[in-house]
Amino acid sequence: MPPAYGAAPGVWAVLRLTLTGMNTRTCSRATCESEPVSTLTYVYADSMAVLGPLSLEHEPGSYDLCPRHTQSMSAPRGWQVVRYVSVGSEY
Ligand SMILES: [Zn+2]
Repeated sequence: MPPAYGAAPGVWAVLRLTLTGMNTRTCSRATCESEPVSTLTYVYADSMAVLGPLSLEHEPGSYDLCPRHTQSMSAPRGWQVVRYVSVGSEY
């Protein structure tokens, strides 16, 4: 019988791959290559722009934003903006 923690090295390998992948992501705004801190998702059915913590994986229809663009983002007229993150003044 292998010990219960036999699978641990594989788990760590996956985790390391995930972290490495995150480091290659940049802000979704054109010409901006800053590191993203939040993810913006447009919910077209509700005319809502949801700004939340950076998602683990990039999903279609969502946009990664750096601190600067997180603060300056604006939704189309008539849309509601829901912010789950606040960008501090340290940026
Ligand atoms: Zn940016």
